[in-house]
Amino acid sequence: ASTSTEVVMRANELHAGYLPGINILNGCTIEARKGELVGIIGPNGSGKSTLLKSLFGLVDIRDGSVTLNGEDVTGMKTNQLVRKGVGFVPQTNNVFQALSIEENLQMGMFLKPKEFASRSQEIWDLFPMLADRRKQLAGSLSGGERQSVAMARALMMEPSVLLLDEPSAGLSPVRQDETFIRTRQINQTGVTIIMVEQNARRCLQICDRAYVLDQGTNAHEGTGREL
Ligand code: ATP
Ligand code: MG
Repeated sequence: ASTSTEVVMRANELHAGYLPGINILNGCTIEARKGELVGIIGPNGSGKSTLLKSLFGLVDIRDGSVTLNGEDVTGMKTNQLVRKGVGFVPQTNNVFQALSIEENLQMGMFLKPKEFASRSQEIWDLFPMLADRRKQLAGSLSGGERQSVAMARALMMEPSVLLLDEPSAGLSPVRQDETFIRTRQINQTGVTIIMVEQNARRCLQICDRAYVLDQGTNAHEGTGREL
């Protein structure tokens, strides 16, 4: 839970979409304050993933704005957003199956071996089941384990804001719980998190606040109890 009122990331009246003339987001406003774990819920097709993707420079923004620590980053490219501390774990993970777990974590990082070793140590502590198998090909992991690799890779970039799209999807109940605990642990290290979650009840148990999306606009906003 956070006490800060400093807004880290904000989508202000966003209108955004993929195809010309068709907006999926129709005036969507959300914000995450420093240290918060903010949930996004809503029915299939309501635009939850589109919202996260538009915060990561992957969707065409037609109107409205995105700010990061007060700076207007509307329309900014993904690689610039990554440099500014935004991390994203998509709904369908982007793990390279033909690479080892460790190589997946190194992807695009260009770290010296010593730097990689120290930075990855925190990650291995967070994901012990990956640490033991770091030389193993990611293709030999289960779907849930691959999701962990995707989250671990996003954390290697040391994001200050992390966008998680249904991190517990497709996992068994025990693994879901582990994922939520880990998400809270990451949040408690100071990372602000915006998380889409299919299960509204679980989302409201875990998150500080949640927004309900309905056809690309937000219907309500509040804490678990308020909703
Ligand atoms: P779910 O709960 O199923 O993940 P969601 O709330 O994340 O749903 P989105 O993935 O944001 O929903 O999709 C919202 C709408 O945008 C859908 O109607 C979908 O068909 C459309 N859409 C998503 N991706 C694209 C794309 N790449 N090109 C065109 N339309 C898209
Ligand atoms: Mg989605």
